[in-house]
Amino acid sequence: MPERPELDYQRDLLSDAIPGTVIAAVHVHDPIVVRQMVRTDLSEALVGRRVTTIVRRAHFMIIGLEGPAPHLALAIHPMLAGRFQLCAASDRVPKDTCFAITLDDGRQLRYRDRKRMGKVYIHEQAKRASIPGLATVGVDVLGLEFTFERFAALAQKRRDQVKVFLMDKSALDAFGNAYADETLFAAGIHPKARVRELSSEQLRALHAAAVSVLQEASDTVRARKPPLHEKVRDFLKVRNRKGQPCPTCGTPIRVAGVRGHDAFFCAVCQPDRSGRGFVRWSR
Ligand SMILES: [Zn+2]
Repeated sequence: MPERPELDYQRDLLSDAIPGTVIAAVHVHDPIVVRQMVRTDLSEALVGRRVTTIVRRAHFMIIGLEGPAPHLALAIHPMLAGRFQLCAASDRVPKDTCFAITLDDGRQLRYRDRKRMGKVYIHEQAKRASIPGLATVGVDVLGLEFTFERFAALAQKRRDQVKVFLMDKSALDAFGNAYADETLFAAGIHPKARVRELSSEQLRALHAAAVSVLQEASDTVRARKPPLHEKVRDFLKVRNRKGQPCPTCGTPIRVAGVRGHDAFFCAVCQPDRSGRGFVRWSR
């Protein structure tokens, strides 16, 4: 799943590439990903509109369009396997291409999704809040407003497990599975720990790790410069590394289930301090 570091990088690539172009054609290869929130025919609604801005909010990429009122936009949520490709419109169309717009300069922006779980919302900008997941987006973790006081105030309201809290996009913008695991590892906190059971020292460590993990990942992705449709994740320390040695202590990385999500962690560096022994070590 592309998460914030990848999406921020892709937003920058797209921001350098497509604003100012005009949509010349719309292609729906698989309608299952399309959520049409405008009444008119899609081509009629979109063709002739000019791309203005590319914005990331939570795990959405939002492409603003200029044209006759009402102002429209595309909000794309890549979910597990979605990705973008920008290429010549004449390039072979891969099988996993679900949606595309041809631009007036001969290029095509494609949304590819082999799992077809992502969504492309074509919507009026004024009605964005009706898109599930965009009604309330939490505090920008890499913004100046993400102070420890703000984080502590959010944490104080939580009764859930810390990984669930980190992944709540209406609280924090934004963590998915991968960077939530990396943040908990950096903070030395067990993924099943309850937020209200964290010490103030742990809460401070978690706040600092949230910022440093996302910032370092963003810096790494930018430095590596992958193509738009590729994802660089080989630098992650625990995510998807079950059985491999912890980079800090050498203990094999384990996996635990947290509310339907897999959490990768090191049982030594991220000890379970609850005393409840709820970790199923066999996994
Ligand atoms: Zn360790």
